[in-house]
Amino acid sequence: SSAPAAAAAAATEEPIQPPVDVKYTKLLINGNFVDAASGRTFATVDPRTGDVIAHVAEGDAEDINRAVAAARRAFDEGPWPRMTAYERCRVLLRFADLIEQHAEEIAALETWDGGKTLEQTRGMEVPMVARYMRYYAGWADKIHGLVVPADGPHHVQVLHEPIGVAGQIIPWNFPLLMFAWKVGPALACGNAVVLKTAEQTPLSALFVASLLHEAGLPEGVLNVVSGFGPTAGAALCSHMGVDKLAFTGSTGTGKIVLELAARSNLKPVTLELGGKSPFIVMDDADVDQAVELAHRALFFNQVCRYVHDVLRAIALLATSFDSFLWFVLEQGQCCCAGSRTFVHERVYDEFVEKSKARALNRVVGDPFRRGVEQGPQIDGEQFKKILRYVQSGVDSGATLVAGGDRAGSRGFYIQPTVFADVKDEMKIAQEEIFGPVQTILKFSTVEEVVRRANDSPYGLAAGVFTQRLDAANTMARALRVGTVWVNTYDVFDAAVPFGGYKMSGVGREKGVYSLRNYLQTKAVVTPIKDAAWL
Ligand code: NAD
Repeated sequence: SSAPAAAAAAATEEPIQPPVDVKYTKLLINGNFVDAASGRTFATVDPRTGDVIAHVAEGDAEDINRAVAAARRAFDEGPWPRMTAYERCRVLLRFADLIEQHAEEIAALETWDGGKTLEQTRGMEVPMVARYMRYYAGWADKIHGLVVPADGPHHVQVLHEPIGVAGQIIPWNFPLLMFAWKVGPALACGNAVVLKTAEQTPLSALFVASLLHEAGLPEGVLNVVSGFGPTAGAALCSHMGVDKLAFTGSTGTGKIVLELAARSNLKPVTLELGGKSPFIVMDDADVDQAVELAHRALFFNQVCRYVHDVLRAIALLATSFDSFLWFVLEQGQCCCAGSRTFVHERVYDEFVEKSKARALNRVVGDPFRRGVEQGPQIDGEQFKKILRYVQSGVDSGATLVAGGDRAGSRGFYIQPTVFADVKDEMKIAQEEIFGPVQTILKFSTVEEVVRRANDSPYGLAAGVFTQRLDAANTMARALRVGTVWVNTYDVFDAAVPFGGYKMSGVGREKGVYSLRNYLQTKAVVTPIKDAAWL
């Protein structure tokens, strides 16, 4: 095996006992934790070992009906949309404080259920959830309509009203952050929510939802249903009592969601879907820095460590520093992973050699252990799917320069894998692998790489690495993607819109853009009599 001995050893060590108990395993409906109507449960599994962490209530169509009924009552008759926006703001601010107070517990739960490193969940994701909540709390009392001019003697008000009951479906790769991206703006606008978590990662959302009630959220405003896609998920999409849907997940499922929404009540849908994002390294690049950034863009999507260090070194205030989201999503399970590494022919050989060395140095192991860079994949299904992609890369003639196999002998660990000499038409260059597999492609001109980068059904994000301003500007404008990171990657901020072109999605989340997803627009027209001016 080409994996480093350290990686394989770490993955086989005795797993560390997570410093947290699982408190909530039932559905949250109308402010109470309840069993599924069917009484069924499903197991959520520790990806380090494959062992069961807990049995969780398995919601289905009947539970979605109960949850939507509760949300409808909360919206149609309850206090949440009727209280002052400032009161809603204060509930969300208290929620953010509670997240910080329980940060250790939340981070441990997220790491246990999802396999991402504790350094990541504790150091970045949990603080970002609090940050997003404060960002949207700040919006709550700044949402307002306007008065527009009319041609006749009319007074025209445009009101921005909450849209009603929002159905939200989230994936397993960022359970907490997706909770924040979706629940934050929906609640700030005064809506009620039914959230369906991913079946692989039900635990953290139930925990933070309990904190939201502690913060003063009225019953029924947020309902959380754990369960599977074709049952609970599909029922939510089809429900006539749901006014809006927001979905994050795969492109295939996104199409089903859109279809179910259309066939039922034509509820508007926003979709955050898959990607196959290019990371483009120009010939003027400092190869060491480019290798590191490309590695992080693919394997764990962290903003380059040297940028981090430089910012720290010049002593930026902690607050502005924290306004970046340092996605260190380990194990390559990120929708915007820089998963097609395009490298200019003049630096290609050196780049491949150094990328290999970097991958071989990557520390794979128990995500609760300090210094570990990469935990296990989420489950056996993803694990097998990734290894099938690796085999396909080998079969199609790409050069396997690092990894290519499982790491350790149990759990769902995969060696950091690098392919060179990848061609555009290979499956590994076209499909989303969603794992620690870097594919390196060679190019020679800006025109060529833009054409090839755009030759994808996806358009989520792109990275451009160059000191040449003109090349960076040309590429930033020519790339058909929702986000372009120049000389950095995965820098997020609560105010920055995120979403995809083409089959990477419909609409945008984060920032002011997310508020629009959760508001209705109403024009109120009244005649003006005997006014001095119109
Ligand atoms: P998935 O589509 O299988 O599942 C996502 C969610 O949809 C889960 O909650 C699942 O239960 C539910 N679901 C499945 N079938 C359904 C159905 N028939 N009706 C309703 N709901 C259904 O995706 P996944 O593999 O779990 O997640 C990974 C995908 O998410 C990747 O493709 C990734 O790129 C994407 N993703 C995108 C973003 C983004 O912002 N663009 C962010 C994170 C992840």
